[in-house]
Amino acid sequence: MREIRNIVILTGAGISAESGIDTFRSAGGLWEQHRVEDVATPEGFARDPDLVLRFYDMRRAAIQTKAPNAAHLALAELDANWPGELLIVTQNVDDLHERGGARRVLHMHGEHLNAWCTCCDARHRWTGPLIDRPPCPKCEARALRPDVVWFGEMPYHMDRIYRALRGADLFVSIGTSGAVYPAAGLVQNARELGAQTLELNLEPSQGSRLFHESRLGPASAVVPQWVAEVLAG
Ligand code: NAD
Repeated sequence: MREIRNIVILTGAGISAESGIDTFRSAGGLWEQHRVEDVATPEGFARDPDLVLRFYDMRRAAIQTKAPNAAHLALAELDANWPGELLIVTQNVDDLHERGGARRVLHMHGEHLNAWCTCCDARHRWTGPLIDRPPCPKCEARALRPDVVWFGEMPYHMDRIYRALRGADLFVSIGTSGAVYPAAGLVQNARELGAQTLELNLEPSQGSRLFHESRLGPASAVVPQWVAEVLAG
C-alpha cells in the first residue's frame, strides 16, 4: 500500500445528523413535508417561488441554531495538522465544517448562508430571509435566490475536486448515502486513480462495495477515532 500523503474527504448529511440537522433519508425523502421536486429543483422555484424562498429561509434560520459536533471538530483538527494535501468536499449546505474550524473545505452543493443574484451573478453572505425580495447589494435587482445547487443543476468546483482526486492517496467518504451523483461516483473515480478508499457511515451506503474498507458507527465516534489513527501515523 502506498504511503498516505494526500487525502480527499467527502462528507454528506450524516456528519451533521448528530448536530440536530435531519438527513434527507431520515426525513423519508421529504424535507419538512415538501417533495424534493417542489423545493429543490429550478422547476419548483419557477412554479412557486414564495414556497421555495420560505422553505430555505426556515432552514437558513435553523442551521444558525446548530453547533458542530465531534466529527466536524476532528476533521478540523486533521485539517490543521495534516502536512500533506487535504480537501474536505462537502455535499452539505450547512456551515458546520467551517464553524468547527476547518479551512480546506469546498461546498459542492452550495451554501445555505449564501444568496446568489441571478441578475449580476454576485454571491453574498446572507443570514436573513429572502422572502421579501431584498435587493442585491451589488446590482440592486430583486433577483436573489438561495445559493444551493438544486437537482438538475451543475454542482460547484468539480474541476478542483477532480484535480485533488488525481493526487489523492486516500479517499474517505463520511455520512453519505451514495444516492446523489456526481458525488456518489467520486469513490469510483478515486479507485480508478489508485487511491485507497474508506467509508465511515452509520450503515453501509449504496456504493459500499466500492470501498476497500468500511467502518460503521455514528460519525461523532468513528471520525475522531479515524483522525487520531491517521495523525498518529
Ligand atoms: P442522505 O440523507 O441521502 O444520507 C445520509 C447518510 O448519513 C446515510 O447513509 C446514513 O446512514 C448516514 N448517517 C445518518 N446518521 C449518521 C450518523 N450519526 N453518523 C454517520 N452517518 C450517519 O444524505 P447525502 O448522501 O448527503 O445526500 C442528500 C443530499 O441532501 C445531499 O446533497 C446533502 O448535502 C443534502 N442535505 C444536506 C444537509 C446538510 O447540509 N446538513 C441535510 C440534509 C440533506
